[in-house]
Amino acid sequence: MTKKTYDVFCLHCEEGFSGPVGTSFFGFRTFDCPHCKKTSTYPLFLKYRMIYLALLVFMVIAFIGIVSKGWFAYPGLFGLAVIYVVIKDMVVKGRVDSIFSIKKPAEPSKVD
Ligand SMILES: [Zn+2]
Repeated sequence: MTKKTYDVFCLHCEEGFSGPVGTSFFGFRTFDCPHCKKTSTYPLFLKYRMIYLALLVFMVIAFIGIVSKGWFAYPGLFGLAVIYVVIKDMVVKGRVDSIFSIKKPAEPSKVD
């Protein structure tokens, strides 16, 4: 089974290339740049974003419920991981959007 390939831009050297998508530990899309050999992290797969956002909503509701009873609440390691992933997803999405607005999408890569 061959993996689906995408036309993307490297977030390190900004070269365009077409490559198979990978998945990082937290569910981010990753692409290995053939030019600089670095791995570009792209935003979450949609299904993972839905799961993280659902977890975040659940955490906020639980947090409000606990605090409203006069107890002290703070996010645990798992909660911090969810917050980290949601923020990173927004940062990565902004970076990818800006690179795609500068470069033309699906520009055929130069043949040297
Ligand atoms: Zn690169």
